[in-house]
Amino acid sequence: MSNQKTELSDLGEFGLIKHLTNKIELQNESSIKGVGDDCAVLNYPNKRVVVTTDMLTEGIHFNLMYVPLKHLGYKSIAVNLSDVYAMNATPKQVTVSIALSSKFSLEAIEQLYQGIHLACQHYGVDLVGGDTTSSLTGLTISVTAIGEVDEDKVVYRCGAKPTNLLCVSGDLGGAYMGLQLLERENEVFKVDPNMKPQFKEYDYLLERQLKPEPRRDVIKMLADNNVCPTSMIDISDGLSSEILHLCEESSVGCRLYEDKIPYHPNTQDLAQEMNINPIVAALNGGEDYELLFTVDIKDYERIKNNPLITVLGHITEAQEGANLVTAGMGKFIPLEAQGWNPMMNKIEE
Ligand SMILES: [Mg+2]
Repeated sequence: MSNQKTELSDLGEFGLIKHLTNKIELQNESSIKGVGDDCAVLNYPNKRVVVTTDMLTEGIHFNLMYVPLKHLGYKSIAVNLSDVYAMNATPKQVTVSIALSSKFSLEAIEQLYQGIHLACQHYGVDLVGGDTTSSLTGLTISVTAIGEVDEDKVVYRCGAKPTNLLCVSGDLGGAYMGLQLLERENEVFKVDPNMKPQFKEYDYLLERQLKPEPRRDVIKMLADNNVCPTSMIDISDGLSSEILHLCEESSVGCRLYEDKIPYHPNTQDLAQEMNINPIVAALNGGEDYELLFTVDIKDYERIKNNPLITVLGHITEAQEGANLVTAGMGKFIPLEAQGWNPMMNKIEE
């Protein structure tokens, strides 16, 4: 890559927008008009439309010391699509707004947009609008995603019923351990910039943190098996906090079995190396972007042994509360909403 740096002021706002969006070809039927007018125009006959927005701020949600701009662009789209899938919907359009300080060159923003375009292409969504503006310090990215779903297939947080099975996709705690690894190596780098980072065999964890993939495959698998979840949420703030959201919105309790929580071997290895309890990473770490959902017990046969998901426990009456049942002793521990606080970059006590 060349080290050329073009000042953004050379292009102006309209020049920049044109430069970043001129290659876009709309791919969805619902996208009637994209970038280039006062509004995008969308067409959704006989569908429910879901809309979600997420904002990422430099120094709060990401650290450009170790987050490549291309990855940041990809992730900013991915986390929004995860919310669309969590409604059992299919994402179709996004808008992207960025605020930039003068420290960013055109080439830097091109990298950010490469990641944005890559995610859009991979998940079949059209970039149909947005805004760019200046900021005094740092970078802010706000993405809005729009998706569609049949009226009778929308899945809310509020539909869980006692005896429903509590399920999760993929594995948990990996993104949090990836962040710990990046933070650790960044500290080493600050002391000695010649030190090469020691990522060893932990590529999986870095990928979980830097390039999360929303679980389109899980939504498809459930539909293919004719299973419609009774409630669903994506895991952005940690398993504990998301379970409590489901229970609260559905007015139910739950039993979550500690020994069912799925971990990747890398998560366990690094947690041991760094003296972190992997269950803390799973419950409170966040940013895994897996799907947490409940299904009717009659659907058990259709999902059991499916490699994409794990049954973690079941839903109970509200008065039982939301509990973690410990491995071995079978003790009931009430789940607490600790959750991920990006500002502190650590789990809240
Ligand atoms: Mg969400």
